Amino acid sequence: MKICKQALNLSSEGGQSSSREKAPDLFDVNISNEALRKIVAHTKSSDEKVGLLIGTVAHDGLWVTDVIGGYGPANSTGTVLLPQTLARVADDIIKRRIEGTIVGWYHSHIGYGIFLSDVDIDTQLKLQQFSQYVVALVIDPTINQFGVFIYDPRLGLVQLPSSQIRVV
Ligand SMILES: [Zn+2]
Repeated sequence: MKICKQALNLSSEGGQSSSREKAPDLFDVNISNEALRKIVAHTKSSDEKVGLLIGTVAHDGLWVTDVIGGYGPANSTGTVLLPQTLARVADDIIKRRIEGTIVGWYHSHIGYGIFLSDVDIDTQLKLQQFSQYVVALVIDPTINQFGVFIYDPRLGLVQLPSSQIRVV
């Protein structure tokens, strides 16, 4: 499968939150080609898909090196990341079946664009209880775009500007 990296990169600017005030101290997010390829492949579906971003936190930002898809139920009306899903992945990490740690999650919006819904924000806040270095990646396969979000306690929902997202 061929990834249109150009279009995917473009998508990370623009978006609903771009008009908000500039976020301070935002960390960079580096996504490996392989991880992005897996996300694109997994979300090429008419149903919403959800998965976890696996990687590391380094001095130069957050690195997404792998993804785990297929966790939790997903349908065309909404996607939920279940607590038992997190528990299962945490267990895999502890037992070293997974290299790295959870650095975020991803899910798809089928044809309705790049943003976080209220349910998405709730999910993001749950994950951020474990680590502040957790991002939410939303991808819309119908327009070949994705965006990366964090929830900042002071600023609220922030979409990372494209200058802070690298596909490596
Ligand atoms: Zn969503």
